[in-house]
Amino acid sequence: MLRFAPSPTGDMHIGNLRVAIFNYVVAKQKNEQFIVRIEDTDKERNIEGKDSEILQILEKFALGHDQLFYQSENLHIHQTLAIRLLEEGKAFVCTCTPEELETDREEAKAAKIAYRYSGRCEAMKSGDLARLKEENIPFVIRLRKPEMAILHKDIIKGEIVTAPNEVDSFVILRADGTPTYNFACACDDMLTGIDCIIRGEDHLSNTPKQIHIKNLLGYSAETQYAHLPIILNTEGKKMSKRDDASSVKWLFLEGFIPDAIANYLLLLGNKTPHEIFTLPEAIEWFDLASISKSAAKFDIDKLRFVNREHLRRMDARRLSTLFGFADADIGLLAKIYLEEASTLGELETKVQAIFRPKNFDCEWGEQMRILQKVIYDAPMIMDFEQFKEHLSKESTLKGKAFFKPLRLLLTGAEHGPELADIYPYIKSYILEIAS
Ligand code: GLU
Repeated sequence: MLRFAPSPTGDMHIGNLRVAIFNYVVAKQKNEQFIVRIEDTDKERNIEGKDSEILQILEKFALGHDQLFYQSENLHIHQTLAIRLLEEGKAFVCTCTPEELETDREEAKAAKIAYRYSGRCEAMKSGDLARLKEENIPFVIRLRKPEMAILHKDIIKGEIVTAPNEVDSFVILRADGTPTYNFACACDDMLTGIDCIIRGEDHLSNTPKQIHIKNLLGYSAETQYAHLPIILNTEGKKMSKRDDASSVKWLFLEGFIPDAIANYLLLLGNKTPHEIFTLPEAIEWFDLASISKSAAKFDIDKLRFVNREHLRRMDARRLSTLFGFADADIGLLAKIYLEEASTLGELETKVQAIFRPKNFDCEWGEQMRILQKVIYDAPMIMDFEQFKEHLSKESTLKGKAFFKPLRLLLTGAEHGPELADIYPYIKSYILEIAS
């Protein structure tokens, strides 16, 4: 069982999308369910509408899920499990005030050592709970740190050993009764039988904590982990919100298509048998273990190349509809422009220039008018050579004075692909185009 567990706290980052794709692919390979769990427990960080945005993006990428749930639906289960750990003495109530904890943190900082919980409330028992409630004393529930090191084998990172002190006695239930990320996450993974967790390496330090939680809850099923290296920008820094290309929404607006983005993210830091492929093809050969251990650098030029190749392979009629045309011709016309354009946005600019009313107020305006008149008076000519001969004969224009205005009239641009290549796809719109 695999899961994608996004927090509805911002725009979908390509790093998250990569995690979703990898989980989906592995679920399909294992013939197991793919669960989407919206991690909405931290109410203050949730942003209205981001959950549906995430779900829409997953749909655009055809990452269909078998189950969808919101983490907050499990609140009472998280609370019950926290109380159970408390009653079993595996967790304790902690009444340390935020000020006390802050002082401890500052002391650790001054001593240049990593902050760890002081252990001040470790002796408190579940029996103290009633008194604290009665006296209205705020408390949290902390899990007792493990007695032995936590060991786990990561598919990408290898074997990782975490000392008990590093796991620390951490909070599982906050003073307002809500679970912390690690606790809610570990409980839900356990409850849904997630046996393979693929996520970003920023979560690597959470893994021993989550293993410890599951151990104390008596969950013994084996879980595999794979932490994906971060994605770097061109400057070699972690791709953040400040990098436009980190936002899936931005990539869509630029005209990168889902098939190409998915292809690129599967290619990133990976050894693949082909460079251009579809998601169903990747399911055939994808191997998590072949993902590079080191960070991958995002390369927009490579993505542009992959996008171009997917546009080239796209059904022409489908491509036409993206530009508002029903017949395949415009898709085929757009494909010719893939020599000089890579995104839907760039292709659209080219196609629009062909159909937009032409500017006759230019160096070749006069000749364009002459050619326009000949085109208006001519019958529809199927063959470009014949079309050219007819225009040249009727207009008496020659050489540059013929070709320059003809190109401008037909494409709205001074340069571009061979007119002979374009003509078959524009001939049926010629009167509209030469206007
Ligand atoms: N909500 C966490 C995130 O979006 C999930 C991490 C995980 O997959 O466990 O980063």
